Amino acid sequence: MIWIGIVLIVICVLVYHQVALLQSTGILAALLLVYGLVNTNLYLLIVFLAVFLPINIPIIRSRLISKHVYKWMQSVMPEMSQTEQEAMEAGDVWWDAELFSGKPDWSVLNDLPAAQLSEEEQAFIDGPVETLCAMIDDWEITHKRQDLPEEVWKYIKENKFCGMIIPKKYGGLDFSHFAHSEIVMKIASRSSTAAVTVMVPNSLGPAKLLLSCGTQEQKDYYLPRLAVGKEIPCFALTGPNAGSDAGAMPDTGIICHGKFDGKDNVLGIRLNWEKRYITLGPVATVLGLAFKLYDPDHLIGDKENIGITVALIPTDTAGVSIGRRHFPLNSAFQNGPNWGKDVFIPFDYILGGVDQVGNGWKMLMQSLTTGRSISLPALSAGAGKFTCRNTGAYARIRKQFNLPLGEFEGIQEPLARMAGETYIINAARTVTLAALDQGEKPSVISAIIKYELTERMRGIVSDGMDIQGGSGICLGPKNYLGRLYQVIPVCITVEGANILTRTMMIFGQGAVRCHPLIYQEIQTLPLEDKDKAIQQFDELIFRHIGLIMRNKVTSFWLGLTNARFVKVPGDKNTNQYFKAVARLSADFALVSDYAIMILGGTLKRKERISGRFADAISNMYLCTTVLKQFQDQGSQEEDLPLLHWACQHTIFNVQQALWEVLTLLPVKAITCGLRFVIFPLGKPYKEPGDELVGQTARILLSDSKARDRLTHGIYVNEKESDATGRIECAFKAVIAALPVEKKIHQAQKSKQLPKGMDEQVISQAVEKNIISKEEQAVIEEAERLRTLAITVDDFSADEMLPG
Ligand SMILES: Cc1cc2nc3c(=O)[nH]c(=O)nc-3n(C[C@H](O)[C@H](O)[C@H](O)COP(=O)(O)OP(=O)(O)OC[C@H]3O[C@@H](n4cnc5c(N)ncnc54)[C@H](O)[C@@H]3O)c2cc1C
Repeated sequence: MIWIGIVLIVICVLVYHQVALLQSTGILAALLLVYGLVNTNLYLLIVFLAVFLPINIPIIRSRLISKHVYKWMQSVMPEMSQTEQEAMEAGDVWWDAELFSGKPDWSVLNDLPAAQLSEEEQAFIDGPVETLCAMIDDWEITHKRQDLPEEVWKYIKENKFCGMIIPKKYGGLDFSHFAHSEIVMKIASRSSTAAVTVMVPNSLGPAKLLLSCGTQEQKDYYLPRLAVGKEIPCFALTGPNAGSDAGAMPDTGIICHGKFDGKDNVLGIRLNWEKRYITLGPVATVLGLAFKLYDPDHLIGDKENIGITVALIPTDTAGVSIGRRHFPLNSAFQNGPNWGKDVFIPFDYILGGVDQVGNGWKMLMQSLTTGRSISLPALSAGAGKFTCRNTGAYARIRKQFNLPLGEFEGIQEPLARMAGETYIINAARTVTLAALDQGEKPSVISAIIKYELTERMRGIVSDGMDIQGGSGICLGPKNYLGRLYQVIPVCITVEGANILTRTMMIFGQGAVRCHPLIYQEIQTLPLEDKDKAIQQFDELIFRHIGLIMRNKVTSFWLGLTNARFVKVPGDKNTNQYFKAVARLSADFALVSDYAIMILGGTLKRKERISGRFADAISNMYLCTTVLKQFQDQGSQEEDLPLLHWACQHTIFNVQQALWEVLTLLPVKAITCGLRFVIFPLGKPYKEPGDELVGQTARILLSDSKARDRLTHGIYVNEKESDATGRIECAFKAVIAALPVEKKIHQAQKSKQLPKGMDEQVISQAVEKNIISKEEQAVIEEAERLRTLAITVDDFSADEMLPG
């Protein structure tokens, strides 16, 4: 028994430290030799040789093992369409690959410089962005006009808000991804209509596509015009029969000769399409159109079905119909359908020219990997910060049962969630942007933050609505949250609808692209030279087996010791969370390998399982960005509740997701074994406790540095006539009046004053010298502003009508 124990421990140590197979065999052989000196055992020697001899000789092991695994893998791998393949291959991997590996190299994250604005970018935010926000009246836009006012459109165009990503040599602003996001975030905190209007030209736009794939002539013509809003672009991909499955679009382009610009027999494309939901479509001057290109007469080559192609089409081209407007949930940004019937375009309308025919899907997927990390995460951060600042203040201002709402434990729960989730959103946003600004293009992370940040924003705004009560429900110029609440489903649906993104994309792409070996293994499957393919596969699969063994040992060891001895970065506040992620990363790698092995290609359809894997990897990513944000912001003591809430919440989510995966996976005997390996002492992580919830909520209720840091970058004003300005003024006044209120409360306790805080009570307090005249003014001003802050709008029947 002692010898068995020694052998097992030695194997675990070898596996944990990933000692090469040959060396491990040598060490075990030496151990066997020592054992043989004491106990001669021929059977043991035979077993040892039977196991270790073949697996150390590649030619034997590939015939005995790898060849069969290779064939099995070929049979279980699902067929992938070209669009699926291109979507899978778009972008790169980054920190996500470390988390997938089971043994993250923390320097990848910690060495990333924090995102920063240049002086010029900061000046733009303090100047034109501030002015734009001040010009905007969201109620007027969304109720009266259903559009931005002419002067706002003009200001946006003249100040190059549509040219943030366009290089200076083409007349654009050439801002970093971080600056781009900060700008959208600030505008979103004032008006989602204005934010979406600015987002689209800077996203797919088609400036981004032009920059990466356009011909020089196209860049020279379009980019300077797009930068100053002389051209308003839109991008048309979605149609009635092609929504989430946009690759299935029925829109066609047939290569043929036609008449164009007075000339006959021009080689070009005859297009027929029907698109809908196209943002900026109704006001666009140039249409970025995605369609399937065919060459039935072989006019440009042998291929008949060329594939998805993108063209830039002026909207005044004969045959183009720009329809009427959709009405996306009371948002007033321009959005509508468009279609074309037998529209003939010359070849030079194709984005990138003839060299780029058939590359449209690839271009779109590549662009989406960065675009998806910027626009909606920025909007989510803007909405989260906005709700925290204003609804948090409202919870301080609004009193019921003689107490501010924020004093009630029931209200502190949603307040803490709002603050913690906003902290998470901002961390994920800024860390991802920092990576983008260093040239990374992580596509799985872009899906994670699109999905996670919009969902978390949805939760924050819903919590905000509950706290606002009737003041969130009654629409009007004073209601600052109702319109935001209405627009949320737009963010959930666009740029990859959320259910699909969670259940299909994050783990679907992640398991292949971020896994240290699977992508390389898959790439050997279609190789024509089968001997070479099996030789390559053999090496990979044995590394893979080693990886699984390592993750199993690591999981068990870290589970048993609660990761006490694992080396991670961090300080006294963050160390425990780094350790938890190190442990959960090994668990995740182990369980995902098992799921891939047991379910193979059918995992693609098991969305309940892949959705939970997505939750696990996403929450690990979010937690690590929170740790990085805390460090990058100088490890501020006042932010500790936010740090703890965010880390405990995300870590708990990872644990929960993995636990649920184990209940869903087949072969209970194995999943029970895995559960024991991963959670040998039960589930160790818990949701934030009551005390922490209270501390986190209080950040939103006090005029503190932590509150300012949490809501940094949004539009704030102190105009009493403004919907949020009056909240800001009242909040400050109510806090300034607290010491005076305290004096009155003490006097009320000793029965010197009657109950309440009305004029009579305050006058009596002055008469009895409980407070001074100056203090009376402070408390009366607070009461005046408090009353102003809680008022809601009402309308005559005529005023209810828009326009
Ligand atoms: C306001 C607005 C602006 C837009 N702007 C543009 C634009 O500028 N350009 C453009 O081309 N498009 C635009 N879109 C289209 C947008 O990208 C699509 O709405 C989106 O792709 C979803 O398509 P769908 O609405 O047809 O929903 P569907 O594809 O019908 O999906 C409905 C639901 O089913 C889910 N679902 C679908 N397939 C799966 C699956 N395999 N597994 C799990 N769940 C699944 C989705 O997640 C979603 O919840 C816009 C849409 C809106 C509403």
